[in-house]
Amino acid sequence: MVEIIDCKGLASRVKENIKKQTDLFIGKPSLCVIQVGDNQASNAYINGKKKDCEEVGIGFNITKIPQNNNPVDGTREVVNAIRNFSWNCSGIMVQLPLPMGYNVEEIIKAIPKNKDVDGFRKDSSFIPCTPLGVVSLLKENCELSGKHAVVIGRSEIVGKPLAKLLLDNDCTVTVCHSKTQNIKEILNTADIICCAVGKRNVILPDAVKENTIIIDIGINRKENGKLCGDIDIDSFENSEKKFRGTTVPCGVGLLTRAFLLQNIVLAYKKIENLGED
Ligand code: NAP
Repeated sequence: MVEIIDCKGLASRVKENIKKQTDLFIGKPSLCVIQVGDNQASNAYINGKKKDCEEVGIGFNITKIPQNNNPVDGTREVVNAIRNFSWNCSGIMVQLPLPMGYNVEEIIKAIPKNKDVDGFRKDSSFIPCTPLGVVSLLKENCELSGKHAVVIGRSEIVGKPLAKLLLDNDCTVTVCHSKTQNIKEILNTADIICCAVGKRNVILPDAVKENTIIIDIGINRKENGKLCGDIDIDSFENSEKKFRGTTVPCGVGLLTRAFLLQNIVLAYKKIENLGED
């Protein structure tokens, strides 16, 4: 059995709070998105960001750059676009994934750290939106101090910053990845599992003890094209053990979107010297 942890409620509250703030600003915070090529999935994500920004009173600009067959030249074009557009907005982001061969590291480094609202730079002024959303959700739903949190996935943008944030909140953290040998034993001692792999059915209920909180971050597609996470929620639903967890869709993705808006407003307030909450 799974008790679903509501991400929609937290996302709505974050957005309401942002709207209240933007209503009082004299100027307007804004997001600039740079997109290379015309990837359909990226278009959908960008449209979602545009809608979110409009809902809460944040300006939105998109700069589309055609894909360059020479990735070295393409990388330079993106870096130049960042330099040209970042002065004029509160936050700037480059929509990932970039075409093969583009130097993502060089591109991320070109984003000024005080405008890196995705939080992708190592020295960014902001916490990456997905880890921030996950930890905010967990804090609302359980006491984190002393819990054993297992993060599956060690990427620079999700797994590692999430592990650090959980550690900062006094969890005992284990990070698993594709080379981890005894993942089943590790999962069996977890109070919280955050799964950010990008593959289906990474965890089965047998491997997890009762009352574990399971946060599904992964995004995958089923054979029928429908969105799903790393975890088959039905297999947990059918288990005799009780769990709490998030779903995909209507889960962590909503938090990522809401906390991006929060970072944009934070960036604006820092630039305008308006102080923090
Ligand atoms: P990534 O860079 O591909 O990292 C995936 C991680 O999973 C790697 O560390 C990899 O290990 C590990 N892994 C792969 N197979 C494994 C296995 N069988 N057992 C244990 N670990 C395994 O992906 P990412 O950028 O972190 O994103 C992860 C997922 O989250 C993706 O589906 C992505 O779309 C989704 N995501 C969702 C949101 C949201 O808002 N909901 C935001 C960001 C990302 P190695 O390091 O050893 O290769």
